[in-house]
Amino acid sequence: MKLAMFRLKHAVFAMAMLIAIPHSTPGFAESPGPFLKTIWAEARQRGVAKSTFEAAFRDYRYLPEVIQSSKSQPEVKQDVGAYVEKRVAPRVEKGRVKFREHASTLVAIERRYGVPAEVLIAIWGIETNFGRTLGGKNVVHALATLAQRGRRADYFRKELLTALDILQQGHIDAENMTGSWAGAMGQTQFMPSSYVTFAVDFDGDGRKDIWDSLPDAMASTASYLKKNGWRSGETWGYEIRLPGDFDFDGQMSSKSRTIKEWRSLGIARVEGKAFPRPSDKARLYLPMGKNGPAFLLLRNFKVIKRYNNSDSYALAVGHLADRVAGGDPFTRAWPEESSLSGAVPIGLQRRPGDADSDIIDPDAVPRTKTMLALHEAPRGIGIQSDGVSARRMTSPIGLDL
Ligand code: CA
Repeated sequence: MKLAMFRLKHAVFAMAMLIAIPHSTPGFAESPGPFLKTIWAEARQRGVAKSTFEAAFRDYRYLPEVIQSSKSQPEVKQDVGAYVEKRVAPRVEKGRVKFREHASTLVAIERRYGVPAEVLIAIWGIETNFGRTLGGKNVVHALATLAQRGRRADYFRKELLTALDILQQGHIDAENMTGSWAGAMGQTQFMPSSYVTFAVDFDGDGRKDIWDSLPDAMASTASYLKKNGWRSGETWGYEIRLPGDFDFDGQMSSKSRTIKEWRSLGIARVEGKAFPRPSDKARLYLPMGKNGPAFLLLRNFKVIKRYNNSDSYALAVGHLADRVAGGDPFTRAWPEESSLSGAVPIGLQRRPGDADSDIIDPDAVPRTKTMLALHEAPRGIGIQSDGVSARRMTSPIGLDL
């Protein structure tokens, strides 16, 4: 009888196990797997505790949708004007509300880092729609998936190990370390490697919490721009008006000139506004040719591009910042159609700290010869004779202009 009972219990237990197995995902403790074993060996050497590691990989499962996202090439194409308007127009009012709501914090951050509050608001708005779309992926699981099978496994492996360091330091709990499929985290989407270099604890609670502390997130963004060369007291650039007789063939060079020199060529700010500092160096930028809005770009434009290496992105951030601060839309309308085959693929973009080269640059598109002449040649890049600019992602430090 006892034996029968034992057998019955045993059978019930075995059944339960059979039922349980397909539904439960083995954690690290039950089934480390060869991949996680190698990650653990490296993490342990870096000082990651076993408890941290186990918490990070609790219920770990390979995320096929992450691999799918990493492979998908965006098909949607937009020209610069459409890109900018789509990002700026819907965010102006909300940006102004957020600006007022967080004014005292933003002023304190601006005072410490010299980066204007409206620029931080603009990046926040464009990156995550003011915190509404942080990305709900478990960052460790997403990075582990990419490190296991992704196309850039080595890069994501480093980011994964860095993410484990961040957990070990106690800035965030494993289950709350969420982000995009590519591991970009928090209110303004920092990769783990950017987090360790630039994130700060602005509210003073001992944790660099870019997820739930807006002071930390905004100050970390300011720290990123500051360390990448942001010039305090200067803006990103100005909308300008070209003289009717502007010598496009003769003056369109990639050289930067002082504002004073540009003025001598007949260039003025729109609506009679003055250039604050005639000695600033600037470059001419006509994103959609001579019939669209025209700009002189200052050095801070390039600093914004360190956040996301795209002219369209930097123009959207700069313009949204101006609008949030009370500025008007561009005086000149975007042309209906670009005369410069200026359509840009929209989608995968460089995240802060993502120094790898095969993320799509929305600006790496064929341009006419004239257009090329208007653009600064990206550092270290040869521009091919067919007008295709093959851009290389540059490291976030070491800005030169
Ligand atoms: Ca904090």
